[in-house]
Amino acid sequence: MNTLENLSFTNERAIIRVDFNVPLDKNGNVTDATRIAAAMPTIKYILDQGGSCVLLSHLGRPKGKDLTLSLSQIIPALEDHLGKKVQFSPEVIGTAAIQKAGALQPGEVLLMENLRFHEEETQGDEAFTAALANLGSVYVNDAFGTAHRAHASTTIVAQHFPNKKCFGRLLAGEIKAINKVMSTGDKPVLAILGGAKVSSKITIIENILSKIDHLIIGGGMAFTFIKAQGGSIGKSICEDDKMPLALSILEQAKKLGVQIHLPVDVRAGQDFSNDTPQQVFPINQIPDDWEGMDAGPASEEKFDAVVKQSKTILWNGPLGVFEFSNFAAGTRALGDSIVGQTKAGAFSLVGGGDSVAAVKQFDLQDDVSYVSTGGGAMLESLEGKTLPGIAAMLA
Ligand code: AMP
Repeated sequence: MNTLENLSFTNERAIIRVDFNVPLDKNGNVTDATRIAAAMPTIKYILDQGGSCVLLSHLGRPKGKDLTLSLSQIIPALEDHLGKKVQFSPEVIGTAAIQKAGALQPGEVLLMENLRFHEEETQGDEAFTAALANLGSVYVNDAFGTAHRAHASTTIVAQHFPNKKCFGRLLAGEIKAINKVMSTGDKPVLAILGGAKVSSKITIIENILSKIDHLIIGGGMAFTFIKAQGGSIGKSICEDDKMPLALSILEQAKKLGVQIHLPVDVRAGQDFSNDTPQQVFPINQIPDDWEGMDAGPASEEKFDAVVKQSKTILWNGPLGVFEFSNFAAGTRALGDSIVGQTKAGAFSLVGGGDSVAAVKQFDLQDDVSYVSTGGGAMLESLEGKTLPGIAAMLA
């Protein structure tokens, strides 16, 4: 299998599938350029090697051509990060597109319009894919955020480059980070799962249980486990129909020798708002009219001790309603524990949706080992699924 480093890019035109699906404000300005920054190492490497780059991405979910979702809007942010001019092609396929791509000189960069202006992209249409393949001589996939989709530019196009395809730096990094948690990382391995619902994390729990040593279950999903064990959880969120499943997870963990750690106390509110009166209760003794909204101080200490024993840490999902500043302390404390343990030499991966948002909110993203860029793709990887975009590169 080729890598970015063992393929030659000199005088080659690399088609790079990037993930520039970035948030824009109403004037079309990029409000969070994390994904643009994340694509830079691959683009810059290829340019330094004497190649040129044709950048393919989608932006949002347009129904046909919708210029409010034109990728031309990200050019200023892209040029800022690259430190050079970027050309733009309003066509993705066809004569004009081929001509623009064909005229690229080594060191130059061409951004193509939003792929999803063509429904053939998500359909994985053969003719559309062949037209994309004509844009360059090498295919590089650096879009982890769409690796779980079998679309033309993320998966099918790889068939046109049997010997000249590779992962970009970002995608290779994501795969390496997941592999550390799943198999190659130092033990003890700790997974921390939080967030709202057991039901959305159940496949992850089932897949990782045999691969880890400790599991912290926090956030809203903890209440299903506490109630299933006979605790009083007041008005806290709970999936009653998942209580038998919660008990069987505890049983299974025991058999596998995995230690499960649940919160011991909560910061509760009287209604679901930031300014509601707040009180700390033991997690299994929450009064009827109170609702658990964050891990309590004793839970913070308990989880800190578990984090401090761990050499490989996965964090997916917040420990409370961190979007409310008065209920963010538990999630913040966990973030600080993970940062401390990372500084002490552990590997830490934060991935999948809201924990990434939490880490950014607390400005801890540079102090953990790896923050995943792909929400859905990360969740599916943790569920043990083979992502089509990755499988296509290994074929
Ligand atoms: P998920 O997308 O499943 O990771 O869930 C993230 C969401 O879970 C966040 O929006 C949190 O506000 C929410 N959450 C975490 N803890 C609680 C809780 N105790 N009660 C209600 N929602 C919670």
